[in-house]
Amino acid sequence: MALPKFAFLDGRILPYSDAKVGLLTHALNYGTGCFAGIRAYWSADENELFVFRPHDHFVRFLESSRLLAMQVPFSAEDLAGRLVELLRKEGLREDCYIRPLAFLSEETIGVRLHGLKSSVSIVAFPFGKYLDRPEGAHLTISSWRRIDDNVIPPRGKITGGYANSALAKTDAQNAGFDDAILLDSQGKVSEATVSNVFLVRRGEVVTPRTTDSVLEGITRRTVAALVERELGRPVVERAIDRTELFLAEEVFLAGTGVEIIPVTRVDHRPVGSGVPGPITEQIRRIFFDAVRGKTPRYRSWCEPVYARPAAAVEASPALEAVRG
Ligand code: PMP
Repeated sequence: MALPKFAFLDGRILPYSDAKVGLLTHALNYGTGCFAGIRAYWSADENELFVFRPHDHFVRFLESSRLLAMQVPFSAEDLAGRLVELLRKEGLREDCYIRPLAFLSEETIGVRLHGLKSSVSIVAFPFGKYLDRPEGAHLTISSWRRIDDNVIPPRGKITGGYANSALAKTDAQNAGFDDAILLDSQGKVSEATVSNVFLVRRGEVVTPRTTDSVLEGITRRTVAALVERELGRPVVERAIDRTELFLAEEVFLAGTGVEIIPVTRVDHRPVGSGVPGPITEQIRRIFFDAVRGKTPRYRSWCEPVYARPAAAVEASPALEAVRG
């Protein structure tokens, strides 16, 4: 992976190679950090880079930092503004990925959250597909259980919690699968290693509740809005049994990295007819138009980097209605 040229660190933009941490950094030793993963999409038609829902990502980022009792001295608006500055400086004119990180940066020993200095960084770099499986991914149900709210809260994007995802991902890939779905401590479906899970069961679009040990995904929220507004169906949030994955007509993953990926096999069993289903395909099409700024109704989700949005777009009450 090509390294970025610049990094935002604690209020300043520095050359990436000057933005360093030491070996005793608390978060490096104990996982006491939290992060975000944001995508920006290049539009060749408009010669513009659009960051997808940065405000929503930074709100969740600050929530994650609060779970770690961290005092981040920036608002979501500040961070979104500094991100635009960083992207312009980096000069990115292609699809890219953005990694904000808030972490206990003191170089010291001792496991705790209180009384330690923290830092905030952001880097951005060109990025394509995280998991390139438009024809459908083959998933397994992991033997690792998902961390829960009383272990390491999966509602927060906490760095230490990703050891759980990494264990599941490596075992899945070593066994020949693309990714894994983890069950929560009650044995119900939670999420995949870096994405939320949706099923179509008896014609109903369903996803686990936010209390079923999942990250409150921004893509999950985006998919729910698209299903409701464009397909005219509700998304039902409920507990999901593992066997429902075998009986579902369709399964798909939704996340910033994976975007929307159909799941066509689970533990060697075909999902539905074994090819991407019609609802998944429809959502994928609507989603990819929305993220590249092609759908006026969802334009407010796309933050332009090189030009300010037209006044008409900013002021539209119809667009206000699709925020959040
Ligand atoms: N669950 C987990 C564990 C994740 O890491 C991610 C990626 N951030 C998601 C779900 C999807 O969240 P989002 O749509 O906000 O990227």
